[in-house]
Amino acid sequence: MAVPRTYHASVIVLRKRKLGESDLILSMLAGDGSLVEAVAKGARKPTSSFATRLDLFCESEVMLARGRNLDIASEVRLLNSHDVIRTNVAATYAAAPMLDCIAQVALPNLPVEHLFAMSSSALAHFDDAREDQMPSLTAAFLVKLFALLGVRPQLNLCVGCGQPLSDDANSLAGFSFDDGGYVCESCATGFERVRIERSTLQWAAAFLGSTFDEVLAFDADANASFGVLHFANRWLRETLSVNSKALNQLLTCGLF
Ligand SMILES: [Zn+2]
Repeated sequence: MAVPRTYHASVIVLRKRKLGESDLILSMLAGDGSLVEAVAKGARKPTSSFATRLDLFCESEVMLARGRNLDIASEVRLLNSHDVIRTNVAATYAAAPMLDCIAQVALPNLPVEHLFAMSSSALAHFDDAREDQMPSLTAAFLVKLFALLGVRPQLNLCVGCGQPLSDDANSLAGFSFDDGGYVCESCATGFERVRIERSTLQWAAAFLGSTFDEVLAFDADANASFGVLHFANRWLRETLSVNSKALNQLLTCGLF
């Protein structure tokens, strides 16, 4: 059966780069969790209707024509422009790592179940978040992303013996990035461990097991969220070889 020349896709715009005088190449997350790259012709002309409908963070329904290398975007219907993220500087900083990480892990023709819905929900929750809550949405997004991609860290059971991570007088817990999780004191000798805040593992586990509504209801402070973001930054590098410039910018921006 011939592949149809045109198709519709729900997309979230992840990246834009210039092409020629007036075109853009867009990297987009498609509804099935795969990456779509397409040319938006004339998108940099001031009169183009693409500009507002295919801006970063926009969630749109787009018609695409298959091209030899890149598909060509034509009709676009805006579903959610995520204005809070695009117009509030703190929100932009907080949300940008999500797009950056998706753009680095999503692949053409390789669907990732639930990735689009999870990303859309995370972005939508910025509408209801106070600025100081925004980093917690991104922290929760990243630990959920790890789970979707099959590289979920073991946060509350020792990777050596299965003993649960408990509240302990010692605020630091052992963690092995090589072996993928928490390592209790009894198992210390068998693993390459680093010290990590016990509360960071507890917050990461709480974010992983919660909806974004619940994450906002936790009202985690900046310390808690940034602890998880720092942990996620290292986990991204160690397990997925992803180095997110946007995440490093969030960690050093000083806005929260
Ligand atoms: Zn153990």
